[in-house]
Formats: sequence, C-alpha cells, structure tokens
Amino acid sequence: MSDFAQTVKQQADIVKVIEGYIRLRKAGAQNYSGLCPFHKEKSPSFSVHAVRQFYHCFGCQASGDVFSFVGKIENVGFPEAVRIVAQKCGIPLPKREYSSPEEAAGARLRGRLLELHETATAWFEEQLRGPEGAVAREYLAGRGMTPEGIKTFRIGYAPDSFNSLRDRLSGMADNETLRACGLFSAKEQGDGSLGPIYDRFRKRVMFPIANESGRVIAFTARTLETGDKAGAKYINSPETPLYSKSLVLFNLDKARTAIRQYEFALLVEGQMDCISVFLRGIQNVIATSGTAFTEQQVALLRRHTSQVVVNFDPDAAGSNAAEKSIALLTEEGFTIKIVTLDGGLDPDRYIRERGVEAYTAALRGARRQSDYLIERARQMFPGASAEQKVKAMNYLLPHIRRIPEKLTRNQFAADAAQKLGIDSAVLREELHQAALRRRDHVEVRATALNEVERVLLRALSVDDPENEEARRMAIKALAEQPAWFEHLGTFAAMQALAGRQARDPMDVVEDEAQRALLAETLLAETKPPAESEVESAIQEIQERAMEHRLRELRTLIAEAERQGDFTELALLTQQKLELDRALRQLHNPRPPER
Ligand SMILES: [Zn+2]
Repeated sequence: MSDFAQTVKQQADIVKVIEGYIRLRKAGAQNYSGLCPFHKEKSPSFSVHAVRQFYHCFGCQASGDVFSFVGKIENVGFPEAVRIVAQKCGIPLPKREYSSPEEAAGARLRGRLLELHETATAWFEEQLRGPEGAVAREYLAGRGMTPEGIKTFRIGYAPDSFNSLRDRLSGMADNETLRACGLFSAKEQGDGSLGPIYDRFRKRVMFPIANESGRVIAFTARTLETGDKAGAKYINSPETPLYSKSLVLFNLDKARTAIRQYEFALLVEGQMDCISVFLRGIQNVIATSGTAFTEQQVALLRRHTSQVVVNFDPDAAGSNAAEKSIALLTEEGFTIKIVTLDGGLDPDRYIRERGVEAYTAALRGARRQSDYLIERARQMFPGASAEQKVKAMNYLLPHIRRIPEKLTRNQFAADAAQKLGIDSAVLREELHQAALRRRDHVEVRATALNEVERVLLRALSVDDPENEEARRMAIKALAEQPAWFEHLGTFAAMQALAGRQARDPMDVVEDEAQRALLAETLLAETKPPAESEVESAIQEIQERAMEHRLRELRTLIAEAERQGDFTELALLTQQKLELDRALRQLHNPRPPER
C-alpha cells in the first residue's frame, strides 16, 4: 500500500464511509451491523468493526478494509477506491496515485469529461432560462413542471444550433477530449476519417443523467421539433468513458436515501415518469430508461433494497421490458410487487391527473408478482379448455422455476393451479416438479473455528503494548513448534499475523477464507485474550499435536509388529513411552518427586 493510501486509511472512518452506502445500526461497543450489500438477506449479518476498521459479512463471508468495501461496491480497482475514499474524506489527491500510466490517463480523461458535463449542464440550464428557451419552458410547463422541479433535476435546453455548445466548451479541452465526451457528433468523410465536430443535441430539452454520486455523466434529450425534422423523440448520450447505459439507474443518486427509508424502490420506465413522481413527494423512485434491467443495474439496486414495486407503462412494449426486468429481479431474489394503473395511464399522467393520493393508493394496492403473472396468463389464454390451461401453465412455468426460494415457489405453483382451475393430476404434478426443480442456493462457508484458534488469532492481532505479552507468547510458540499448528485451518493466517510488524491484522492475511475467519474472531471479542488464556490454548495445541503423534505411533508399532521388524519396533516403542510421559507431565505440570 502506498504512503498516500496509508494516510487515507488512517484518516477515513470506515463506519462513516459504509454508512454512505447502507444503513448501519450500533450493535456493540465497537461494532455496527446492517444488511449486507453483497448478498441478499433479510436480517443483518454484515458487521463493521469501528476500532479495527474492517467489515465482515457472516452470511457471504465478504470482508476487508475501507478500500476493499468501496472497490467492491463501486466496482472499481484499488487505486480508484483510494481516490474515492480520499474524496469522501476531503483529502487532496497527490499527482501520482495510479498503478499504470494508462490508468492515470483514463482517470484524467474521466475527470475532464466530468468537468465538461458540469459546464454543459450549467450552460443548458442557462439556455432554458434565456429567450431561446421559451419553447422548452412552455413544453415543460405543459407537463406540469415547476421552476423548482426544473432546478432540482437541472433540466436545460439545447438551442437549435450546430456550434453554440462547441464554442462554449472548445476552450476547456482539446479536440480529442471533446470527441470523447458524447456531446458532439462528427460526419465520416470520404477517406474514412471523422470531420469536424458539431453539437449532437439541438432544439431539445436536456435531462441530465447523474451517477450515484450525483454528478452528471450523460443526457437524455427530448425533441421539441415536430414533423419530418423531429428525428427520434428521445435521444441519449452514446457510451463514453463516463457513461455506460447498462450501469446506471436514473435518479438513484436522489432516491437512495428514501429507498432505504421505505425499504423498497419504485421502478418506473421513463425518466419523465420518474421526475414527475419524485417531485410530487414519492422520492424512492428510479427509472430504467425504457429498456430491460441489466445484471449490473440489479447489483446496483441490491445495495439499497431487495424489494421493488414495479410500475411500468401498460403498453405492449412496456410489458415486454417489464417482464424481462421482473424475470431478472426474481432470479436475484428480489421481492416484487406490480402496479397497474387503471385507465391505461403512465405514472406521470396518472399522478398529474388524479393526484398524489390516488397514486399512493395505487401503490398500496400493488399485487404480488405471482398474482400479476397468473392474471396475465389468464388474459393471454382465456377459456376453460384443457389446451388453454396448458398454454397458461407453460407461460408460468419458467417464472416459477426462476424463484430462488422453495417456499415461495411452492406457493406460486399452488396458487397457479388453483386460479387456473387446474385439477388434472398430471398438470398439478408438472407445476409441482417445476417448484422442486430449482436448485437452492448453496452457501459456501469456511470451516468453523475452534476456541483455541480464536484465542491464538486474537493474541496474534494484539496492537496495544499493554497486552504485548499475549502476542509474544503466541509468536514464540509458533516459531518454536510450527508442527503443533500445521494442521490448523488458520495456520497460514497465524504465520502471517506473527510476522506482521506494525501492520493491520486484516491487511496481512492474504487468503480470503482465512481473512473471513479472522474477521469473525475479531468481531466476536472486544478484549485481547489474557496471558493465561493464551498459555492454555498453546498447551491444548501441544496436547493435540502429541495425541495425534501418539495415534500415528500406535499405527506404526502395529505395522512393525506385523512385519517382525524388531529394531524399528524398539525405536517406536521408546518414542511412544517418551510421548506418554510428556503428555502426563503436560496434564500435571509439577509431578510430585518420587
Ligand atoms: Zn454478505
């Protein structure tokens, strides 16, 4: 770890940093706990050790320090994690904090692109307020947008010009950077090279897309043109080093606090729906931007909740994207409810026409996913003929199989049989088999620790000089009699800890499973072990090692007898006698003199 990373780690408080992502509760003198962001769970098994500054999940065994947490949750490498933590703690970054020149160049480019987007956002906002923005203001007012709402979402206007944004930004960055930012287009020329850049977004209302930290990384632009000239109603920024469509959930930056508070996310399709619902006070709302969910988006959402209420457009395209999203969320173990608004309205129109109370009521009336799907199956395959029932069932089977939890799966199958009026034993069996077939998730757990190992791990992790003796004793025993410890699952961790100098215990253990065991141990205890505890732990280890050797000797003796090898037999018997005596002495440290 570089000096800079070391400094950041010392100044950062892991509890505060993690609290920026998930909700933590104080769970002990030194511990906090919460729902693990790295696996799906309903009761908290994720712990943060405030003193030793590490986290550990008893459910999925994820553990590490503040950088590992940020790296994992933001899906970035170590250097980037250090930068993020430094920024969160207000520690200025030194010039060189990258592992390679390419990485430094990449980070520099992203930094430049963020600046360009910030300037562009402010400029679009300015254009919306200016004389050219009148038509856009009118459009927004027509959709019920207030000036405050426009300000909250930083909505702007791209004027009808090929070069006004380019002129505004050209002083800020070189041509290559401007080409990379996604705000400009260029025509391919006769020789295959690209011509000069021009503004990509023209005469459009600009909706900024922010990353989870709230910084603008892309735009969605709605045309104000009508007729042939209009082009697509909405166009988005292309993929850039800053923006990847499949990695962003619209409005997550503003919604995440409310999502945690209400313990569910409201998922809508369009950005306009999202903005409209948010501005009317329902703040746990995010949007997929009209396409089906990606795995990365699911992972993003999982950090905040595992419950989703889906309110997609009622049209056919909406239903398809909705079903794909629902399928993926189901596979990932989310609990899903589905809202269908009557009158075939989308969320934006519904909430504007009928008010927020009516919309809230509709949300409360959201149906369980299984009920929704069964209803859909009945609509798609109406009638009571056996053929229709088979079709309806075939439609439902993949949905049932997808559910990770067995009980939920069984319940779904039973409901489907009942509501579809399936009384044929064959069809019931088919549903039952679908419910059975899904392999339940098997958790890989590291081997449990025994008490002796716990004491030794704690002793080896001692930091304060006051309890140095416990540490010294353990190190000495390890150095002098490594054979006693070899068979322990945590032997490698113990060796690493013994040689760790002044470094953090959690930093020196390389093996992930062993680090997890160490984390469990350190979370379970607040005090280092007493010297007497260490002493008896070492003694127990010694005893076990001797007993183990004793068993070996018995086998070897029997073998020597069988082969008639009396020299070997004598040697082994002698060893056994000595070992017996040593063991007796161990049990009675001061045998009476005879
Ligand atoms: Zn976990």
